[in-house]
Amino acid sequence: MSIQNEYLNRLMECVIQRDPGQPEFHQAVREVLTSLAPVANARPELIREGVMDCLVEPERIIKFRVPWEDDKGGIHVNRGYRVQFNSAIGPYKGGLRFHPSVNESIIKFLGFEQVFKNSLTGLPIGGGKGGSDFDPKGKSDAEVMRFCQSFMNELFKYIGPDTDVPAGDIGVGAREIGYLFGQYKRLRNEFTGVLTGKGLTYGGSLARKEATGYGLCYFTDNMIRAAGKSFEGANVVISGSGNVAIYACEKATQLGGKVVAMSDSNGYIYDKDGIDLDLVKQIKEVERARIKVYADRKPGAEYHEGCVNIWNIPCGIALPCATQNELPLEGAKALIKNGCFAVAEGANMPSTPEAMDAFLEAGVLFAPAKASNAGGVAVSALEMSQNSMRFSWTFQEVDDRLKQIMTDLYHNAAGAAAQYGLAGNLVAGANIAGFLKVADSMLAYGLV
Ligand code: NDP
Repeated sequence: MSIQNEYLNRLMECVIQRDPGQPEFHQAVREVLTSLAPVANARPELIREGVMDCLVEPERIIKFRVPWEDDKGGIHVNRGYRVQFNSAIGPYKGGLRFHPSVNESIIKFLGFEQVFKNSLTGLPIGGGKGGSDFDPKGKSDAEVMRFCQSFMNELFKYIGPDTDVPAGDIGVGAREIGYLFGQYKRLRNEFTGVLTGKGLTYGGSLARKEATGYGLCYFTDNMIRAAGKSFEGANVVISGSGNVAIYACEKATQLGGKVVAMSDSNGYIYDKDGIDLDLVKQIKEVERARIKVYADRKPGAEYHEGCVNIWNIPCGIALPCATQNELPLEGAKALIKNGCFAVAEGANMPSTPEAMDAFLEAGVLFAPAKASNAGGVAVSALEMSQNSMRFSWTFQEVDDRLKQIMTDLYHNAAGAAAQYGLAGNLVAGANIAGFLKVADSMLAYGLV
């Protein structure tokens, strides 16, 4: 995919030269600038007024050390990040990721994507992301607590309910959010909605846990219904078995699909009779064990080492819900060959650019992450609203709002694609629709 605008091409080169070692960030920027070329061609003031240049440079990057002590008294030092990318339409909002692969490139790509995603929700939230190369796997609760407290000892200086409101992501679930929130409260002596994904006893929102996976299925349902298809009777393959994957499995099943495979970073399970989600929840949410255990306990289920072959399983709908670049071109070809008619991204940037091109060329209905996984941050924003009102909505109320947000989001992205002569291309549509609101706000502020 080349960028059909000379200035944006040069801008892409500048981004690469400025930070040469950041391939994930370059990948995310290239995809967006490619989509935005028709907008930049139609509206030259966006280039003249510096909007495009400012768009690809974070407002602020905070990088800090996180020292912590393990249970045996050993000292470790990890690195923490918060990238405050764009606050044109609201306080920075985006998750924290704790995973050994975390580096500045990954946090910048995630923060950049978040800007457009948050705008697409229609809610007043800017984009940011953060995290650490700390690995919570295999650590005791006490070790995770000490790490989170140390992380917050630095982060609290830069966040606040009207400034920057982090949430969870890979490796940061309810346990970690509890420790982080507790430390923030202690340091600031205030009880505010500074984090989302909180526990229900201290300001969390009902349906936040389910929101990304449910929202993914609501979006997918809109997309496939517009093409005369449905979940009903379709085999569904879902990668990952974390927060997003589990609740995507739950909703896909409720909508009539049969989920036949899930995975973790070691391998995948195939269950031709349909995944027993209660068993997956027991293994992943309660025992924090490996997905392999599923095949030991469920008669007829198979376990296969390695993740990528999950895409060889025939299915009508594929929902990649694990991590970036987990669905390569070979996986895309296998899905297309086996008759997959829809791919909707639950994880952030799970399809490689080559895989995404293959889906679009083959006419597979393709939902890009920044549209299809926006349900999580949308309900996070609803959590912020409830915290500000000191009030909480029922599960049904939040779920109804989520469903409406995902429906509006689908129509927005589809409409923007059609308006720029790219009907059916939701990648371009989501990038354009997300961008316009942010760009017009940036223009209104002048050069800041
Ligand atoms: P979790 O940490 O809860 O789960 C991640 C899952 O993916 C785990 O099962 C993990 O396995 C698995 N995994 C990691 N790498 C691979 C791989 N290479 N192949 C197969 N499986 C792998 O994270 P979330 O579910 O919260 O997040 C998943 C994705 O969704 C991320 O891209 C995240 O940014 C995105 N997302 C999350 C949102 C949320 O609300 N949580 C909101 C929007 C996007 P293992 O246990 O072995 O590591």
